[in-house]
Amino acid sequence: MNILVINAGSSSLKYQLLNPETQQVLAKGLCERIGIDGKFTYKPEGKEPIKDADVAMPTHSEAIETVLKALVDEKNGVIASMKEIDAVGHRVVHGGEAFSGSVLITDEVMEALEACIPLAPLHNPANITGIKACVAVMGKDVPQVAVFDTAFHQTMPPVAYTYALPYEYYEQDKVRRYGFHGTSHKYVSQRAAAMLGKPIEELKLISCHLGNGSSITAIDGGKSVDTSMGFTPLAGVPMGTRSGDLDAGILEYVMNKHGYDIKEMLNVLNKKSGVLGISGVSSDFRDLEAAAEQGNQRAQLALDSFDYSVKKYIGAYAAAMGGVDAIIFTAGVGENGATTRSSVMSGLEFLGAKIDPEKNGIRGKEVDIATEDSTVRILVIPTNEELMIAMDTAALAKA
Ligand code: AMP
Repeated sequence: MNILVINAGSSSLKYQLLNPETQQVLAKGLCERIGIDGKFTYKPEGKEPIKDADVAMPTHSEAIETVLKALVDEKNGVIASMKEIDAVGHRVVHGGEAFSGSVLITDEVMEALEACIPLAPLHNPANITGIKACVAVMGKDVPQVAVFDTAFHQTMPPVAYTYALPYEYYEQDKVRRYGFHGTSHKYVSQRAAAMLGKPIEELKLISCHLGNGSSITAIDGGKSVDTSMGFTPLAGVPMGTRSGDLDAGILEYVMNKHGYDIKEMLNVLNKKSGVLGISGVSSDFRDLEAAAEQGNQRAQLALDSFDYSVKKYIGAYAAAMGGVDAIIFTAGVGENGATTRSSVMSGLEFLGAKIDPEKNGIRGKEVDIATEDSTVRILVIPTNEELMIAMDTAALAKA
């Protein structure tokens, strides 16, 4: 079974054609500058790749057409015809309270997706455009599935998702914690259960998705029970350029001081804060580590603040669940950043979690980096959101 996974942004579209049963990736790539001019990148398995080719893409429809043409191309294609694509899985950022799992897309689902736009005004319209373009180009017979970043967190109890604001903001305006990176947290939690050889229902897990965007999730019995991102992906730990949690009172003070309107203020919080803001060096953890090594103290402070915040969330979620069996590190920094992992875990020995410095040096594969006598396992698990989307899509398309 071949599944085409689509992640549509406002001017870009990432794609991957894969078989969720064998986990074989037949081709992947990216369309960029959609609506501007159009650049196409295509990486087929065992064939000639294309990088940054100029292809006119006035809309997402031309982008999808370009992808499909490349996939069935006589010379460089990986399938004989479009009939070999059994279903399409779309990453959708926000499913609000309407979606607690992936769904087969119908007209009613499209309406519900449109209704979620105010919750993610930058992302959901692009995701919807991607779905419409696929239906227009591939026809209605190919099943299309929506897989939401928020859905995995819909199991959170009210005590974890309710903000201490006037309750009508929740009832009338849907203001609550939603959480994001759900596909990644779900995938790594399932892999953790497989690695530990235990049913997920019996495990208390803390999953640390640490990348350019970061979130920590408490997963009890396979269900998300709390997560660090909130109503938007701005909350939680400091990120590459996002502030993470902060005192809302700062907003008025800074806005008055600098004459910002709310848009300018949010631009600072989303694009100029986080580890970039503290360090003044970069949002990229490799740059920060290099600068810190050369004695840049603000780069070191940025890294330390990040590690400290992740550590606090781990402590909080162990308390929330009344224990933890395994702590998972995933995404760019979580998978590769040995220094970050060891700094986050230092001081957490009281939980029974002891990191093995030698095992912590291993990169790029699933590995348990806890010492033999550690009562809490510490797992590095490369995330694979595309595979998770393809697995959900295949299950719904078959049903
Ligand atoms: P992601 O958003 O998951 O793609 O993660 C991107 C982040 O991972 C960037 O900040 C990278 O600097 C970071 N990263 C990638 N490789 C390493 C590494 N070897 N050590 C530390 N950070 C890394």
